Amino acid sequence: MKIKINDTVKIITGKDRGKTGKVLHVIAPKNPQAKARIVVEGLNLKYKHVRPKNEREKGQRIMFPYPLNISNAALVCSKCGQTAKVGYQKINNQNETAKKKIIKQRICKKCKAVI
Ligand SMILES: [Zn+2]
Repeated sequence: MKIKINDTVKIITGKDRGKTGKVLHVIAPKNPQAKARIVVEGLNLKYKHVRPKNEREKGQRIMFPYPLNISNAALVCSKCGQTAKVGYQKINNQNETAKKKIIKQRICKKCKAVI
């Protein structure tokens, strides 16, 4: 998965195109062929109607961010601030006691920063 929780992403299609936000959730698809969806803070907002819990309360509409397809968003590199093509590099694990000797890191293909 190229996009993780707390990443900053830019929406590249739809009504919020060009906006950026923080990833709150990554929803893995049940079907492995399908694309994952993400929930981005403050983006792709939809209204949800909330029914009153008791007679004194009024029903209300609240805004909440609706999941969007992961392919509609691009990861924004925290270093160069541009939408990044994600690459991977393998490095030796510095932690001697770890089982994994080689770990994969995400890197921005533009500025080569680890993200
Ligand atoms: Zn970068």
